[in-house]
Amino acid sequence: MANQDDNLLKKIIAHAKEYGFIFPSSEIYDGLAAAYDYGQNGVELKNNLKSFWWKAMVQMNENIVGLDASIFMHPTTWKASGHVDAFNDPMVDNKDSKKRYRADVLIEDHIAKIEGKINKEVDKAAKRFGDSFDKEQYLATNGRVLGYQSEIDSINERMKNAIESDNLADLKTLIEDLGIADPVSGSKNWTDVRQFNLMFSTELGSVADGASKIYLRPETAQGIFVNFLNVQKTGRMKIPFGIAQIGKAFRNEIIARQFIFRMREFEQMEMQFFVKPGDEMQWYEHWKNTRIGWHKLLGLGEENYRFHDHLNLAHYANAACDIEFNFPMGFKELEGIHSRTDFDLKAHEEHSGKKLQFFDPQENKSYVPYVIETSIGLDRLFLAVLTAAFTEETLTDGSERTVMKIPAAIAPTKVAVLPLLKKDGLPEKAREILDELKLDFNCTYDEKDAIGKRYRRQDAVGTPYCVTVDHQTLEDNTVTIRDRDNLQQERINISELHARVSDLVSVTSLLKKI
Ligand code: ATP
Repeated sequence: MANQDDNLLKKIIAHAKEYGFIFPSSEIYDGLAAAYDYGQNGVELKNNLKSFWWKAMVQMNENIVGLDASIFMHPTTWKASGHVDAFNDPMVDNKDSKKRYRADVLIEDHIAKIEGKINKEVDKAAKRFGDSFDKEQYLATNGRVLGYQSEIDSINERMKNAIESDNLADLKTLIEDLGIADPVSGSKNWTDVRQFNLMFSTELGSVADGASKIYLRPETAQGIFVNFLNVQKTGRMKIPFGIAQIGKAFRNEIIARQFIFRMREFEQMEMQFFVKPGDEMQWYEHWKNTRIGWHKLLGLGEENYRFHDHLNLAHYANAACDIEFNFPMGFKELEGIHSRTDFDLKAHEEHSGKKLQFFDPQENKSYVPYVIETSIGLDRLFLAVLTAAFTEETLTDGSERTVMKIPAAIAPTKVAVLPLLKKDGLPEKAREILDELKLDFNCTYDEKDAIGKRYRRQDAVGTPYCVTVDHQTLEDNTVTIRDRDNLQQERINISELHARVSDLVSVTSLLKKI
């Protein structure tokens, strides 16, 4: 697969565990597939990501407000939204290995292999032509590349037709025609393709009382739709306006692999933006630009993002795209931006018998608003941060270090305060500094081991600044502040420390650029 780096993913998983970012769930019982726990550093990073999103979406926009809806909802919600009837993935089993796969993912992986061949041709040509290489022209004219591309287009076309017409037999024929083998066993002995509903269900109330089946929400969005009028009325919101929410969602994924990329319990950060029908394309473009801008501000490398427009639109959508990130498994969906028309609100009107409309005083009429949705997986964002941050370096003195270059504004710990020695009053002075800084920043204190070893420990968890207290501190009230990325140490007066740290780790300076 293009850009695939299994080794990098393995290293990230091991590092995340060793340094308290992410543990397998209930590990003492050998874990539970596709469930993970965020450790002491993970929870800080996750909270910082949530806060950066919330501030950018809610705090910075007068016309967007927040919501925290419950996970359990009236079961009719999921009938109305279409999830009971259609929240399915096509699955297929390999009869020899007994492994289960998503049929569309098997086909997409096959396409990714062909894309890998195109990338190889491009790399070869780039080497051959050197500076004069024109990638766009090469892609548009090279016979072999065009052949691969038309193969991809024809597979995509067949897959789209099969999925849209719900023709599972055609999907199986496509898998057979492409000669797709089980990645584990190499066997091509497949069962028929079947639909599998992804919602988890449970029972409300005691069984004896005649329990009713309810679902764990598979997306947070429906909590927003059913509260549309509550928020609009009590907040006196005028169209266009948005409702934002962060919360857990649950999906019984057929294949849950690739670490926190695809989990069965995960967290979403979603915003539904209600607009006047007819204005939706303008707002769709607005949110595409705003969201990609937000990602680029985070500082994970602009080259790691790309848009992917949906060819297979859901029946209720009139435009949709993904923001993809360059994960160790290649470019994959990080966030979805969807123009959902009035599908959801209309469906809830029909099923509840309640009007979910906005009276537009300018138009002097009521209408069901259209919706633009931005939906990002918090755990996928977390994996994007780990991917971009994980760095193995050889330093100028020949030594090696593993450093998490997490952007300072979202780093779990902002400052480590380190007395050079565990004596001569240095620990006391260091604690004095810590006590002041910790009022505003998440800080840590460490006096164990040689200073070099302590710096490495902070590098490994991504602490952007280390403040070291030495004998000179006692004489002139100065400390050194070490930068994690460039390793520069600067001596500054303690009186300037707070302002300096605040400047360096500021979320405000990021928000100002929005
Ligand atoms: P995919 O095609 O990868 O299954 P999706 O298109 O079903 O994703 P959406 O329904 O658009 O995903 O959900 C919005 C966002 O929620 C996704 O962009 C992703 O970041 C996140 N997400 C969806 N499913 C999972 C999961 N199983 N684990 C972690 N994050 C998820």
